[in-house]
Amino acid sequence: MESKGITCGRIVLASRDHFFVWTEQGEVEATLGGRLRHVKSCLPCVGDWIVLREGNVIVDVLPRRTRISRKEPGRSVREQILAANLDVLFIVSGLDQDYNPRRLERYLVLAKESGTRPVILLNKADLQEDSEVFVRRTKEQARGVPVLAVSALEKRGLGEICRQVGTGETAALVGSSGVGKSSIVNALLNEDRQPIAEVREWDGRGRHRTTQRELFLIPGNWFLIDMPGLRELEPWAAPEQVDDAFADIAELAAGCRFRDCTHRAEPGCAVRNAAGLDQSRLAGYRKLKRELAFLERQSDIRLTRESRKRWKALEKEARRHPKRT
Ligand code: GDP
Ligand code: ZN
Repeated sequence: MESKGITCGRIVLASRDHFFVWTEQGEVEATLGGRLRHVKSCLPCVGDWIVLREGNVIVDVLPRRTRISRKEPGRSVREQILAANLDVLFIVSGLDQDYNPRRLERYLVLAKESGTRPVILLNKADLQEDSEVFVRRTKEQARGVPVLAVSALEKRGLGEICRQVGTGETAALVGSSGVGKSSIVNALLNEDRQPIAEVREWDGRGRHRTTQRELFLIPGNWFLIDMPGLRELEPWAAPEQVDDAFADIAELAAGCRFRDCTHRAEPGCAVRNAAGLDQSRLAGYRKLKRELAFLERQSDIRLTRESRKRWKALEKEARRHPKRT
């Protein structure tokens, strides 16, 4: 699409005030138009479709079909959009010391809220004698979510990864630093494009890198965004999404005597004493519920406060310019 110097494009890399955009003319560097600079929620992120005017200035961000968000790190209660217009979210975990069901659950909640299809990748399958045990265990917990054991190192399972994404669709890789996200990107591209961190022997985690979120075109014509380790993962989601991510617990909870049972001390609780329910999973569920309920309350408070401020400003304006009738 082009008319009078206006072009459409997609953000492949975004930093504070510097953007790389794919256009029909190829990749260009772009800057932000004045109006967009002042609206935080309008700041383009990787995956966004945008409108460029002459001189490669971004003047508009098209509505986002889906988005991956977390709570802005720190004390603020704001949404931070990490990537936009995704179809599939690959949640990567390493089958070394990184395998952590509690963390997977957090990512699942993130995925549920985003409207993307989650797929769990258990990478470094070459390090596990019996990776199928982990696949089975993970499948039991993340019901209905595909779970694949792969190895970027041995290029195992790459075809299966590709089968999860349709032509023209966009996927992203999330997971802690060191689980092998960059290695998966490189294996899929069949070249070394993303720098790979050396793993520290003692804790199995990659060295901290500052690589940015970047969009790649994968052979087979789909897109993949590498999202470097999110140190703080507090999903930005509605509390209901937790039940969606913990289908087994939600199902049990249907049998509790009280509808708002917190599964702590209530009589007639069907969850607390359920046979075979991993207590640390229950603790993870409760913690996420609490966090998101808090977030919901706080952001309600913030919204109310902001709208009150807006009304005050309008009132003041109205007093200054009494209505002429
Ligand atoms: P990222 O931080 O998630 O992007 O992880 P990297 O791709 O940088 O990988 C971290 C470390 O794990 C590197 O030393 C990789 O060589 C190693 N690694 C990645 N994939 C595999 C794998 O499938 N098997 C094994 N054994 N090591 C891997
Ligand atoms: Zn209960």
